[in-house]
Amino acid sequence: MIDLSQDVKYIKGVGPNRVVLLNRLGIYNLKDLITYYPREHEDRSKPTNLCDVIDGEEVLIEAVAVSRVNEIRTSRRNMTIYKLIVRDQTATCTITWYNQSYLKNRFKLGEKYTFFGKVSVKNGLIQMTAPVFDDYGKTKNTGKIIPIYPLTYNLSQNTLRQIIENGLKQVNNQLEETLPEYLLKEYNLLDLNSSINKIHFPKDFKEYETARKRLVFEELLGMQLALLSLKNKYTVNEKGISFSKDVKMSEVINTLPFNLTKAQLRVLEEIDNDMEQDKPMNRLLQGDVGSGKTVVAIIAAYKAVKSGYQMAIMAPTAILAAQHMEEFTKILSKFGIRCELLISAITKKKKTEILEKLKQGEIDVLIGTHAMLEENVEFKNLGLVVTDEQHRFGVRQRQTISQKGKNPDVLVMTATPIPRTLALILYGDLDISIIDELPPNRKKIDTFAVTKALEQRVNNFVIKQIEEGRQCYIVCPLVEDNEEIKAQSVVELARKYKEEVFKQYKVEYLHGKMKPKEKDEIMAEFKNGNIDILISTTVIEVGVNVPNASIMVVENAERFGLAQLHQLRGRVGRGEYKSYCILKYQGNSDVIRQRMKVMQETNDGFIISEKDLELRGTGEFFGTKQHGLPEFKIANLFEDMPMLKSVQSLALKIIQQDPKLENSENKKLQKLVDDKFGQRLEI
Ligand code: ADP
Ligand code: MG
Repeated sequence: MIDLSQDVKYIKGVGPNRVVLLNRLGIYNLKDLITYYPREHEDRSKPTNLCDVIDGEEVLIEAVAVSRVNEIRTSRRNMTIYKLIVRDQTATCTITWYNQSYLKNRFKLGEKYTFFGKVSVKNGLIQMTAPVFDDYGKTKNTGKIIPIYPLTYNLSQNTLRQIIENGLKQVNNQLEETLPEYLLKEYNLLDLNSSINKIHFPKDFKEYETARKRLVFEELLGMQLALLSLKNKYTVNEKGISFSKDVKMSEVINTLPFNLTKAQLRVLEEIDNDMEQDKPMNRLLQGDVGSGKTVVAIIAAYKAVKSGYQMAIMAPTAILAAQHMEEFTKILSKFGIRCELLISAITKKKKTEILEKLKQGEIDVLIGTHAMLEENVEFKNLGLVVTDEQHRFGVRQRQTISQKGKNPDVLVMTATPIPRTLALILYGDLDISIIDELPPNRKKIDTFAVTKALEQRVNNFVIKQIEEGRQCYIVCPLVEDNEEIKAQSVVELARKYKEEVFKQYKVEYLHGKMKPKEKDEIMAEFKNGNIDILISTTVIEVGVNVPNASIMVVENAERFGLAQLHQLRGRVGRGEYKSYCILKYQGNSDVIRQRMKVMQETNDGFIISEKDLELRGTGEFFGTKQHGLPEFKIANLFEDMPMLKSVQSLALKIIQQDPKLENSENKKLQKLVDDKFGQRLEI
């Protein structure tokens, strides 16, 4: 049996320097190495006639060396140049290498070679610079399909390819099959060893597809089974609470200072319905930023409390919890409903008092942060649990709080929409409600994407807004430890803005590494209007309401996901003032421009998340951890949607017949679930 946990340093060709480089790619052991899948494959198998090549294309040519220009030394940059003239039946081509003296005697005139590289065609002259090559008939670098890997600085494709080849040789087809025989047969899947070999080094693209299909199948099946087993663990088939049909939501709705939107009413009807059933509610409420999810939670809380139960709502930050506290109290206190705030910042005495009252049932609604997950937080009869901004919490936390009641109803609220198709599959364990409409009279946030050239104008615009009495957010990406990335760091930027550009105003900054208390203080100061400009990382994305903030500037906007930009943008436009979002970006790739365009053209979070997925692919979309979904090594949820659907129903069938995957034919699946997701699954 092959030891896949073997340190990568023992692989042939891997010295101490390369270990560091491989580690940087997340490759630590043999398993990491052989499952480091290529980003794409380059077809170096089909030769082109020289007369047919197109300027700028990468081509394979088969040509005879006809003459060479001896080494030339350039005096200025101290470079040596070596040129070789080659010819096929149709034309000649000049090949140039720089600083590669060892090639001087490599080619024999009159012999045939294959070359692969980019050609340039200028005035009928065909040229190549530093192509890879082989003696004709050999296939080391050419004549086949070559895997291309995502790389790190200082590690070349050739080197990594060689190391992976060595790794595969060491494995020598000794991998233990991970899928049961009956599935391989039924779905016509390639065995594991062939798949792993061919995903790297396929003979042709058909082989590659066959290998990929099997690996994607395995990855998706693993995820689906893990999700379902998890669901089995925490959803109880036992009875839940049926809340009273006599408590009408309209009783509280009628007291609101505004009319609910159609979407809010529809969602409330779904929730009302669930609450009256004796099956525990497990519902995801998706709604764009500002769509009014909080009031939905308040109305549900009313129903729960008036039916004789307690309700708890958990928010990701103390300040957000405090904001909820304000809104809950405003609406519910006139019905005699008692709300309390439980965050870690309160005094010990106050906390003891709250915990006691909670146990006695003298508090109806508990609003708080993670602090309410602690063991000593006990309810008298918790009936409804709401978690706000779901992507901040994991399933286990959801579970922890639910277990403080007896099968309470659960509502999960999130403002990071994901496309419905995807949500249905990935949150298979939750029913979904969507608020797809904003309250009327919301002013559109005007969004502009600008390059550095307009920096001065942007600053002037910010000043103009502040002079009119408004406040401004400036958001920048996280401080990266990677030096290659020149993203603006908050601290550096704050200094510049504070001491130079906006020195006549009150500028403060906020970042994730600050103490929660410090953060809350600054946020509160901003809310009170004592700070004009708040510079921040994305910690502000989860929302505090500052209606006076009318402008947001995002630095290096190209580094954010669209869904995230949208979420951030939702921090402005919360009051009566016309609001603006200015996206400063660098780089001029098509994708960047398209993404900026999407942000300028739409304010609809669902469309944005759909586009984000399309433009970035699922890897990055989910890689941001925005959605808290598992990451995939090979599957691409966009392309592999059909496969995901079929795998989903398969997984469901398997789990129904064998909930714990104990049957002998499913033993391998149990292992798959453990291996893949055992530790990491937090959704
Ligand atoms: P989110 O969905 O982002 O959590 P909130 O619940 O914070 O949004 O709502 C944003 C603001 O809109 C709040 O001030 C809330 O009182 C208000 N609001 C909610 N529903 C409506 C409505 N139907 N009409 C007008 N204002 C509303
Ligand atoms: Mg909210």
